[in-house]
Amino acid sequence: MKIALIAHDNKKQNLLNFVTAYKPIFKDHDLFATGTTGKRIAEEVGLEIHRFQSGPLGGDQQIGAKIANDDLDLIIFFRDPLTAQPHEPDVTALLRLCDVYKIPVATNEASAEIIVRGMENGWLDWRMLKQSATLYDEK
Ligand code: PGA
Repeated sequence: MKIALIAHDNKKQNLLNFVTAYKPIFKDHDLFATGTTGKRIAEEVGLEIHRFQSGPLGGDQQIGAKIANDDLDLIIFFRDPLTAQPHEPDVTALLRLCDVYKIPVATNEASAEIIVRGMENGWLDWRMLKQSATLYDEK
Protein backbone atom coordinates (compact mmCIF):
# COMPACT_ATOMS: atom_id res chain seq x y z
CA MET A 1 0.00 0.00 0.00
CA LYS A 2 1.07 3.55 -0.64
CA ILE A 3 0.69 5.53 2.58
CA ALA A 4 1.10 9.28 3.08
CA LEU A 5 2.14 10.55 6.51
CA ILE A 6 1.70 14.21 7.45
CA ALA A 7 1.72 16.08 10.75
CA HIS A 8 1.40 19.71 11.68
CA ASP A 9 4.21 20.98 13.89
CA ASN A 10 2.45 20.52 17.22
CA LYS A 11 1.51 16.96 16.22
CA LYS A 12 4.82 15.79 14.76
CA GLN A 13 5.97 14.07 17.93
CA ASN A 14 2.61 12.31 18.17
CA LEU A 15 3.06 11.00 14.63
CA LEU A 16 6.66 9.95 15.31
CA ASN A 17 5.48 8.01 18.35
CA PHE A 18 2.70 6.41 16.32
CA VAL A 19 4.95 5.44 13.42
CA THR A 20 7.53 4.07 15.83
CA ALA A 21 4.89 1.94 17.55
CA TYR A 22 3.73 0.53 14.22
CA LYS A 23 7.12 0.46 12.50
CA PRO A 24 6.92 -3.32 11.94
CA ILE A 25 3.82 -2.66 9.84
CA PHE A 26 4.90 0.55 8.11
CA LYS A 27 8.24 -0.90 6.99
CA ASP A 28 6.42 -3.20 4.55
CA HIS A 29 4.67 -0.35 2.71
CA ASP A 30 5.61 2.53 0.40
CA LEU A 31 5.73 5.67 2.51
CA PHE A 32 5.33 9.28 1.41
CA ALA A 33 5.35 12.47 3.47
CA THR A 34 5.48 16.22 3.44
CA GLY A 35 9.01 17.57 3.81
CA THR A 36 9.61 18.12 7.50
CA THR A 37 7.46 15.24 8.63
CA GLY A 38 9.30 12.90 6.27
CA LYS A 39 12.72 14.14 7.34
CA ARG A 40 11.94 13.43 10.98
CA ILE A 41 10.47 9.99 10.24
CA ALA A 42 13.55 9.04 8.22
CA GLU A 43 16.01 10.35 10.81
CA GLU A 44 14.25 9.47 14.05
CA VAL A 45 12.34 6.31 13.15
CA GLY A 46 14.66 4.99 10.47
CA LEU A 47 12.06 4.28 7.81
CA GLU A 48 12.64 4.84 4.11
CA ILE A 49 10.19 7.51 2.96
CA HIS A 50 9.68 9.67 -0.12
CA ARG A 51 9.57 13.34 0.81
CA PHE A 52 7.61 16.02 -0.98
CA GLN A 53 7.83 19.77 -0.34
CA SER A 54 7.07 21.02 3.13
CA GLY A 55 3.33 21.42 3.67
CA PRO A 56 3.20 25.22 3.57
CA LEU A 57 5.32 25.15 0.40
CA GLY A 58 3.00 22.85 -1.54
CA GLY A 59 3.56 19.40 -0.05
CA ASP A 60 -0.10 18.85 0.75
CA GLN A 61 -0.99 19.71 -2.84
CA GLN A 62 1.63 17.28 -4.16
CA ILE A 63 0.06 14.53 -2.07
CA GLY A 64 -3.37 15.63 -3.32
CA ALA A 65 -2.11 15.22 -6.89
CA LYS A 66 -1.13 11.64 -6.12
CA ILE A 67 -4.63 10.98 -4.83
CA ALA A 68 -6.13 12.40 -8.02
CA ASN A 69 -3.83 10.11 -10.00
CA ASP A 70 -4.99 7.06 -8.02
CA ASP A 71 -1.49 6.69 -6.65
CA LEU A 72 -2.10 6.69 -2.87
CA ASP A 73 -4.08 4.25 -0.74
CA LEU A 74 -4.14 5.74 2.75
CA ILE A 75 -3.52 9.13 4.39
CA ILE A 76 -2.53 9.59 8.02
CA PHE A 77 -2.61 13.30 8.71
CA PHE A 78 -2.26 14.40 12.32
CA ARG A 79 -3.74 17.87 12.15
CA ASP A 80 -3.38 20.51 14.82
CA PRO A 81 -6.94 21.65 15.45
CA LEU A 82 -5.89 24.45 17.80
CA THR A 83 -3.44 26.41 15.65
CA ALA A 84 -4.16 28.41 12.49
CA GLN A 85 -2.13 27.15 9.52
CA PRO A 86 -0.98 29.41 6.68
CA HIS A 87 -1.82 26.65 4.21
CA GLU A 88 -5.26 25.81 5.59
CA PRO A 89 -6.79 25.93 2.06
CA ASP A 90 -4.35 23.21 0.97
CA VAL A 91 -5.27 21.07 3.96
CA THR A 92 -8.97 21.45 3.17
CA ALA A 93 -8.31 20.62 -0.48
CA LEU A 94 -6.39 17.47 0.45
CA LEU A 95 -9.15 16.20 2.73
CA ARG A 96 -11.71 17.03 0.06
CA LEU A 97 -9.86 14.88 -2.48
CA CYS A 98 -9.82 12.01 0.02
CA ASP A 99 -13.61 12.22 0.02
CA VAL A 100 -13.83 12.57 -3.77
CA TYR A 101 -11.75 9.43 -4.31
CA LYS A 102 -12.83 7.58 -1.15
CA ILE A 103 -9.35 7.36 0.26
CA PRO A 104 -9.18 6.25 3.91
CA VAL A 105 -7.88 9.15 5.99
CA ALA A 106 -7.11 9.38 9.70
CA THR A 107 -6.53 12.71 11.42
CA ASN A 108 -5.64 11.52 14.92
CA GLU A 109 -4.17 8.54 16.76
CA ALA A 110 -7.52 6.94 17.57
CA SER A 111 -8.68 6.67 13.98
CA ALA A 112 -5.18 5.95 12.67
CA GLU A 113 -4.85 2.98 14.99
CA ILE A 114 -8.12 1.50 13.76
CA ILE A 115 -7.11 1.96 10.13
CA VAL A 116 -3.60 0.54 10.55
CA ARG A 117 -4.90 -2.48 12.44
CA GLY A 118 -7.61 -2.86 9.83
CA MET A 119 -4.98 -2.72 7.10
CA GLU A 120 -3.17 -5.59 8.80
CA ASN A 121 -6.41 -7.55 8.87
CA GLY A 122 -6.93 -7.04 5.15
CA TRP A 123 -9.80 -4.58 5.47
CA LEU A 124 -8.15 -2.25 2.95
CA ASP A 125 -7.28 -4.94 0.43
CA TRP A 126 -10.07 -3.62 -1.78
CA ARG A 127 -7.70 -0.79 -2.60
CA MET A 128 -5.55 -3.33 -4.41
CA LEU A 129 -8.49 -4.75 -6.33
CA LYS A 130 -10.23 -1.71 -7.75
CA GLN A 131 -9.01 1.49 -9.30
CA SER A 132 -10.43 4.57 -7.66
CA ALA A 133 -11.68 5.72 -11.07
CA THR A 134 -14.53 3.30 -10.49
CA LEU A 135 -14.98 4.29 -6.87
CA TYR A 136 -15.86 7.95 -7.05
CA ASP A 137 -19.25 9.05 -8.19
CA GLU A 138 -18.80 9.92 -11.82
CA LYS A 139 -21.00 12.67 -13.16
P1 PGA B 1 5.75 19.50 6.99
O1 PGA B 1 4.32 19.86 6.44
O2 PGA B 1 5.81 18.05 7.15
O3 PGA B 1 6.71 19.99 5.93
O4 PGA B 1 5.90 20.25 8.27
C1 PGA B 1 3.19 19.41 7.14
C2 PGA B 1 2.11 20.42 7.04
O5 PGA B 1 2.13 21.37 7.83
O6 PGA B 1 1.23 20.29 6.18
